[in-house]
Amino acid sequence: MTAPASLAERERPAAAAALDVDRLRESFPILDREVHGHPLVYLDNAASAQRPEVVIDAVSDCYRTYYANAHRGVHALSEQSTDAYEAARGKVARFIGAPSSGELVFTRGTTESLNLVARSCARPRLGEGDEVLLTGMEHHSNIVPWQLVCEETGARVRAAPVTDDGDLDLDELAEMIGERTKVVALAHVSNALGTVNDVAAVARLVRERSNAAVVVDGAQAVPHMEVDVSALGCDFYAFSGHKMYGPGGIGALWGRAELLASMPPYHGGGAMITRVTFERSEYTAPPHRFEAGTPAIAPAIGLGVAVSFLESVGLERIERHEQELLSHTLEQLNDLPWVRVLGHAPGAGSARAAVVSLVIDGSHPHDVATILDEQGIAIRAGHHCAQPLMEALGVPATVRVSFGMYNTHEEVDRLILGLHEVRRIFG
Ligand code: PMP
Repeated sequence: MTAPASLAERERPAAAAALDVDRLRESFPILDREVHGHPLVYLDNAASAQRPEVVIDAVSDCYRTYYANAHRGVHALSEQSTDAYEAARGKVARFIGAPSSGELVFTRGTTESLNLVARSCARPRLGEGDEVLLTGMEHHSNIVPWQLVCEETGARVRAAPVTDDGDLDLDELAEMIGERTKVVALAHVSNALGTVNDVAAVARLVRERSNAAVVVDGAQAVPHMEVDVSALGCDFYAFSGHKMYGPGGIGALWGRAELLASMPPYHGGGAMITRVTFERSEYTAPPHRFEAGTPAIAPAIGLGVAVSFLESVGLERIERHEQELLSHTLEQLNDLPWVRVLGHAPGAGSARAAVVSLVIDGSHPHDVATILDEQGIAIRAGHHCAQPLMEALGVPATVRVSFGMYNTHEEVDRLILGLHEVRRIFG
């Protein structure tokens, strides 16, 4: 006789059914197209994902039927646009587990979100000799904004090392946190290697050792796994719409209410003030304090729809499907002695998202990308805006394959055939 299930077990939802990828693909019109006479194989999702029809329709419907400037007018269209824009804010905030939609600032994307934190939260708190601690696997958008504020304040940027396996060295990171550390900023998921950093563990380390703000670049996490900013224990979380099947030109910054409330505006202009005279201005409360000027209304509404789409497919199912694609890819690459995969050694300490960086003996990544493109396969070659990581790994560039919810095992097989073609050409 089996033991009765505990309450917790009974309440736990049954594991989600597998993803019906063929049906899912029908939602993405662009996946039907051909490139150079071949069906498109889109494996550049870490750069930008594609949009489902519902997102495209939501943006077009906004412009066709109710667009007007938000927060400005009392006329019907303006009210409708404002309501839709603010409803999108609520959806995006709930999606990442934010306690309140007032903590969710719409920005142009991760880059702007990180610049906002650097400028409005960090800069006023930084002084000579203070430190901003990053990791060795950061995207340039989580390096350069910190350098800019450090140059102005006399603070300095340091970076915790990445192991040869592509994991963040948590012991070293812990050692580097001290009283001078004012910010610890790290990627949730590396865009170059797929490493999933244990943000909750990092946040705990930081709290034990300093008063530093914990800033997370979530650009590569939000489309691929469930994110709950409250559970992560961080202070800020930045992400981009275009990587999560939403429109371009929109993204978000989540910040703890008390921190946002203590921060001066990032940009000045309309919509972020309560009163302006030539002598001085008074500012609205967050989130509008950080949204000067006319916002990206239709893209924000589209992002809200992208979030609903992600929820309807289910993050758990998406993650499982992408992990299967990752295993399938790594198994096949393992059989190719002329391919070197970076940062996916079996037994690596951290999990990996479905991003694979590789180099091929005797061929430049850009040539590989060109040959694959001729076969309709879109991947990325270059330093992936992570030059310090490339330097640490001893490569100038890699070929990066990055998966999304709509990729298939057949597409992995086409990639492998494409790599054989590269090998044939380069000998
Ligand atoms: N961080 C990471 C990890 C990224 O992958 C990217 C996009 N490549 C960014 C930040 C910057 O995002 P965006 O260009 O949308 O601002």
